[in-house]
Amino acid sequence: LESELEDIRGAGTWKSERVIASPQGPHLRLAGDGAGIINFCANNYLGLSSHPEVIRAAVEALEKFGAGLSSVRFICGTQSIHKDLEEKIARFHQREDAILYASCFDANAGIFEALLTPEDAVLSDELNHASIIDGIRLCKANKYRYKHMDMQDLEAKLKEAQKHRLRLVATDGAFSMDGDIAPLREICQLAQKYDALVFIDECHATGFLGPNGRGTDELLGVMDKVTIINSTLGKALGGAAGGYTTGPKPLIDLLRQRSRPYLFSNSLPPAVVGCASKALDLLMESNAIAQSMAAKTQRFRSKMMAAGFTISGKDHPICPVMLGDARLASVMAEDMLDRGIYVIGFSYPVVPKGKARIRVQISAVHSDEDIDRCVQAFTEVGRKHGAL
Ligand code: PLP
Repeated sequence: LESELEDIRGAGTWKSERVIASPQGPHLRLAGDGAGIINFCANNYLGLSSHPEVIRAAVEALEKFGAGLSSVRFICGTQSIHKDLEEKIARFHQREDAILYASCFDANAGIFEALLTPEDAVLSDELNHASIIDGIRLCKANKYRYKHMDMQDLEAKLKEAQKHRLRLVATDGAFSMDGDIAPLREICQLAQKYDALVFIDECHATGFLGPNGRGTDELLGVMDKVTIINSTLGKALGGAAGGYTTGPKPLIDLLRQRSRPYLFSNSLPPAVVGCASKALDLLMESNAIAQSMAAKTQRFRSKMMAAGFTISGKDHPICPVMLGDARLASVMAEDMLDRGIYVIGFSYPVVPKGKARIRVQISAVHSDEDIDRCVQAFTEVGRKHGAL
């Protein structure tokens, strides 16, 4: 093990944990030196992780329903709040039903094996999230991998997959490394033409993409064409934990019978259910929070581009500052932290070789001043290292 660990260090891919001594939010205090930093690397897109009403809802659920269930759902682990949250999720996405999991990783681990048989086919974007890839590995369906967002390649693979009983196209709605959005209109057209179902993972879209924050399917006008949505409660929807599948009722009924992470893992704790339920209430009341996040994203993207940086993706709060060189991304991220701005550099193998970047994530609770300080720090650090 020691030599394996040494190899990881030697390859420069060692991941360490930075310890935080304050709640999640735009301003953090690090443990130890107590330094205050502005955080630009959480998936806390709507700033609900430490929203006072979300915290209060968690405390109330904890007091009323206890710390946890000590049971899986179908034995003695279902409380009224679990059923209420499932109903609320289905209503939010305008789907027939929903099923909760301990995480979206679990939702992705459970769906493909439960739904697909060796007679079926799954067609997956090559850059899909690791949990989709792992979920697909667990199923016995025939596997096709199409080039990232390449509709010609998807069509070729769909033609090839006509020999199977059922076809499922699986894609992230928004891809977390590039902030790019799957061409769902085209995917749904192809799915219709070749008689396939469409599955999307909406972890980086639920709560803020589309006019009412319903996600990528709403943004692209295909809510009635996407059959299955998996998403997380651990990012924009309060950030505590949990995931879900929402879609047609018979599918959800089947998952309750067959999905292994649902059948063999503990129920979501009441406090976590309380957080997500309140987050959904806030978002269904108004999309002012999502609009504020979109305005801040716009401010960051336009100021960075005016400063001379290349920002990948379009309009998404994931704003990858493209640098190319892995070392440059790493030293610039370190220098940013010295200036009180917390951002993370990504390089190969997490992203393709030569496409190293610093990923900045904007939140509704960043102030305009936070954003401007971040742009200022990037400009100084970029000049220092010859990136501008
Ligand atoms: N899918 C995508 C696209 C993600 O980014 C993540 C989290 O990183 C997951 C699934 C897993 O979600 P969870 O944290 O709820 O397990």
